[in-house]
Amino acid sequence: MAYGDYNGADKPNKGHEGGACNRTRCQCEPAVWYNHGSMSWYCEDCARDIGQDSFNLRDWKLNYEPRRGHPMFETRTMMNQRVNTLLAVIDVQKNDYIAEVGYREYECLVALVNDGTVKTLTQLAEYGIDTGT
Ligand SMILES: [Zn+2]
Repeated sequence: MAYGDYNGADKPNKGHEGGACNRTRCQCEPAVWYNHGSMSWYCEDCARDIGQDSFNLRDWKLNYEPRRGHPMFETRTMMNQRVNTLLAVIDVQKNDYIAEVGYREYECLVALVNDGTVKTLTQLAEYGIDTGT
């Protein structure tokens, strides 16, 4: 199965981590690449197609990567490595942090720290991020 081969109804796990690819005409499993633009999960082939599309790639590199500091598509392993590195810098336990403030703030934290300007708990607090201290 490849993009364009699927013509059925949306699968219940469409776009979910480990589920069916978010592309309607694909929906291959497993979806192991997270798209930070659409905030959904894609299969290997579609992640490559979308991520390497010249328009998408240029838009991401110009408008998002400088601020977000990561590629458009990442696997869970890549995100975990990135977050673990960053959280080691600010000395916060990742799981405690997510449990306390939720996934949205955790993504926000990662983006802020990745831009290279936010490194201390005090600075994070200035962005309205509760670091539990
Ligand atoms: Zn796909």
